[in-house]
Amino acid sequence: MNFPHPPIPRGKILVLLAEDLRLEDNLAYAIASDPTREGFAVLRIQPEARGRPARTRNRRAIEDAAEARIGEQLRRREIPFEVLGPDDDTSLVRACRRLGCMSVIRNAADGMAAENAYRVGWERELHSANIPFLTVNGEMIRRVGPGGAKPEQPFLSDHQTVAQDRLPAEHPIRLLRDFLQVLPDRNYLADMWIPGRDRVSTSQLSTHFAAGTLSSHRAERETTKAEKLWHAANPGRRRSTEGSSFRHFRSRIAMRTGFLTTFSRYQDKPSRASLTPAQTERLSAWRSGNTGIPMPDAAMRELGATGWSNFRLRQLVTSYGIQLLQLPAVEVGAALAEMFDDYEPGITWPQVALNDGTLMQERGPRILNPVKQGTNLDPSEAYVRHWLPELATVPVGFGHEPWLWFDNPLPAPLIDYKAAFREARARWGKKEEAFTSRDAVLRTHGLP
Ligand SMILES: Cc1cc2nc3c(=O)[nH]c(=O)nc-3n(C[C@H](O)[C@H](O)[C@H](O)COP(=O)(O)OP(=O)(O)OC[C@H]3O[C@@H](n4cnc5c(N)ncnc54)[C@H](O)[C@@H]3O)c2cc1C
Repeated sequence: MNFPHPPIPRGKILVLLAEDLRLEDNLAYAIASDPTREGFAVLRIQPEARGRPARTRNRRAIEDAAEARIGEQLRRREIPFEVLGPDDDTSLVRACRRLGCMSVIRNAADGMAAENAYRVGWERELHSANIPFLTVNGEMIRRVGPGGAKPEQPFLSDHQTVAQDRLPAEHPIRLLRDFLQVLPDRNYLADMWIPGRDRVSTSQLSTHFAAGTLSSHRAERETTKAEKLWHAANPGRRRSTEGSSFRHFRSRIAMRTGFLTTFSRYQDKPSRASLTPAQTERLSAWRSGNTGIPMPDAAMRELGATGWSNFRLRQLVTSYGIQLLQLPAVEVGAALAEMFDDYEPGITWPQVALNDGTLMQERGPRILNPVKQGTNLDPSEAYVRHWLPELATVPVGFGHEPWLWFDNPLPAPLIDYKAAFREARARWGKKEEAFTSRDAVLRTHGLP
């Protein structure tokens, strides 16, 4: 084999699928299925059985489809495949005995505290039964763990395995390729923020990345390839909107791996805040899109109904919840974690911390004006009117501030947003002062 891996004991191997719910671009699977070895079985332990939060309906559907696809592929090769849920016995030792396996191999996916706790538990259990447990790191994501902090060589399947005509329809690699075909016809960078155009300009692949049904490395490689082909066919158009779409898309994929590399130790289950009855009511109004301010309300209703919203809207609802409604950041993050189909602790929690101003303090928190964001992103009011049908009785021009119309069909705004915006800035001003003066003192003393 031409990719590096640790020495593997003799005998049948158990491949453990965790956050890498795929057989393509899966180093652990590739090693185990080497025909010179003595056979293997595959075991999938579902996220809830590994202490991860409950998945959304769409996320489950994507993962169920992947399990069915993998099951079908393995059945054809007569390879045993088991899926274990939260009600099943998830002992790896007993799984090895059941399936006649002598060792366990899996891909590194252990950045998060919850994943680490499971890894340590598995290691102990297998060690006590004298069963070797190997972790390999074939991902572009540099997770810290026994597989090493850096992937020696990110792994991709050979061309034959991922040949287009061998992949079933709706396979995530096909979805990626379909997107790369249409990418130059889209104004990716400009439209990714715009409600109504966002879902066609972006890839909508985040749930696949989060579920591990698609590897970031595959996306990066195929984007580079498509980009080269496009430029060869369209010389001199490197700076055009069409030509630069590939570059911008690639940089987003890199952002994902950057976040996961840097922040993969974020907790899945942070300690929750205790709320006053008034805060509980506010949180529930924010979450269901009933605070009386149309743009963030529409964004929360879209997220609740579909499990997805664009980056700018995610930023807006987070900033609105934390800065203007003054909800505890941990409760805002926990609600988003339950609602996002593509929930990734290593992205959601640092984004919440960025909005809260506790991460990268030198940049300050994101304090956004919800009405200005509304008029900028949705000048025609089509978006707010779609998600808040109550606005039908309000004339155009009042969609983002229906309280200015004499008969407001929405609940009265929970806050005076202008005052809340000013107060949030003033609160940050005080923190910033403390932060910069502390920074100056530390610098004077030559401390980091
Ligand atoms: C508060 C907040 C929470 C977020 N939580 C998540 C999360 O839990 N999971 C998640 O995948 N993204 C999260 N994002 C980032 C971003 O909003 C989504 O990745 C993006 O909207 C997904 O849509 P897409 O697949 O069509 O993206 P595309 O534009 O097609 O981008 C391709 C891929 O690049 C990655 N990506 C894109 N933008 C970002 C970004 N800003 N940071 C890191 N990776 C990015 C995603 O994996 C995405 O699928 C969050 C953003 C904010 C502001």
